[in-house]
Amino acid sequence: MGYYCSKCKKDIPEKVYEYSLENYDKVLCRDCQKTINNGKDNVSDNKSEGLSDKKSRFTEGMIKGRIAETLIEELFLSLDYNVFRYGMENTVPGIMKLLKGVRGDVATNIRRMPDFVVQKDKSVFFVEVKFRTSESFTLEDLPRDYPFENAYFIVVSKKHIKCITYEELKQGKEISPDTHNYLGNRKEFDLDKNIIIDFCNFAVKFFEGV
Ligand SMILES: [Zn+2]
Repeated sequence: MGYYCSKCKKDIPEKVYEYSLENYDKVLCRDCQKTINNGKDNVSDNKSEGLSDKKSRFTEGMIKGRIAETLIEELFLSLDYNVFRYGMENTVPGIMKLLKGVRGDVATNIRRMPDFVVQKDKSVFFVEVKFRTSESFTLEDLPRDYPFENAYFIVVSKKHIKCITYEELKQGKEISPDTHNYLGNRKEFDLDKNIIIDFCNFAVKFFEGV
């Protein structure tokens, strides 16, 4: 599945993709990462840091991502959803129906399955959780042939929890600090606004110091 640089559109391997997201909060090839390091629009103040600093920042990003996942998992659990992490092909009600709409190689797609499947009664959703310091998420954050056309992306930032579908991303919509696509506004999840507010407050408190 092809990832590509959001600046120069060059194809990049998955490792570079992941590294770039963790460290630059956007998808950049190695060359474009260097340009950013040298230029004035320095997103993260990495002057002449050593390898160990880079490594620890990478780990920090991973941990933030995991925390965001856990937060969203708990949020859905507290709303009486069932939450499944991968390997659930045979156990999730409705999963085979969801997989029918999935393009491409089945094995790759199952491996790249979104973080969660959440289910309540007859509603089943693919959910992918992202932590973004920049509070932004666009179609460019995904590989070109992203197969899960019915996925929901939940973006956790230091201040907000927002949500966008793959469908909306394809229409050119995005998540940014200026958009109002809060998770609490999604009717399909039938979410309790007070619970979401509780989780948002928790997230704010938690991510404040990091
Ligand atoms: Zn590039």
